[in-house]
Amino acid sequence: MGKQQNKIISLKEARTKGLKKYFTGKPCKWGHISERIVLTGNCQGCRPYVYKKRMSNPVTKNKIYEGNKKYMQTKVGKDKKNAADRLRGKINSKTIAYRRYKSAQNYIKTRLATPKWENKTLSKKIYKIANDIQKVTGVKMDVDHIIPLKADTVCGLNVWYNLTIIPRYINSLKNKNVLPEIVDHIANKVDWMEYIDSKYSFLCKTFPNQERFETYIEKQKELFKMIMDKKNHKKNPTLYKLYLMFQTSSGGGKTFTNYLMCLPVSY
Ligand SMILES: [Zn+2]
Repeated sequence: MGKQQNKIISLKEARTKGLKKYFTGKPCKWGHISERIVLTGNCQGCRPYVYKKRMSNPVTKNKIYEGNKKYMQTKVGKDKKNAADRLRGKINSKTIAYRRYKSAQNYIKTRLATPKWENKTLSKKIYKIANDIQKVTGVKMDVDHIIPLKADTVCGLNVWYNLTIIPRYINSLKNKNVLPEIVDHIANKVDWMEYIDSKYSFLCKTFPNQERFETYIEKQKELFKMIMDKKNHKKNPTLYKLYLMFQTSSGGGKTFTNYLMCLPVSY
């Protein structure tokens, strides 16, 4: 395909016709002979250079990224991405079939794991709490099964007292581990709802925005270093106690991610 030659349309004509672009045939001050935008009069040939300049500045670069993110969440953006993926062959009949198979499997899995005595109003309430936390804190939350529906050793049920709310990034780190502390709580079914309520009302009060949440995580990292450093144990016995508790909890507790999993933030 050759480059399409533009017809000469004056600004006035383009305006009366309701077009978005016009073309005069005259070069811009940098010498591009290209279309201009009706609203702003900006030269299209200059666009890549303007973009490069904006990307070289970290502040405007962030703005561009955030704008793109917002756009990708809209319906138009999603449709465009899907169309582009189809063109590139990222989505084909195979991948579509695989997605359908997966979603069907998930459906069957949850159907099989849901007993008759499941209280749907309570599990809906947990999902609503998760939604509220996400709105207040700005941290993406997942509703997770404490004992996974499908695991190697035990399979959990899809019931309200098997649901918990955790930040999404922790959910991705957690995989299929089950914490012994949580198993203790499941024994008291009646208390479980109150437990979740209290824990997450606390969360909402403590982290009204993402920034404060991140500083919290940073502080936890510092604390983790102090706990893991054996030199501190003689000076501070509580650090030693935390160290022991942390070592005995699931996952061996040798990494920071394991440590995060044992925090009240995650459970
Ligand atoms: Zn130009």
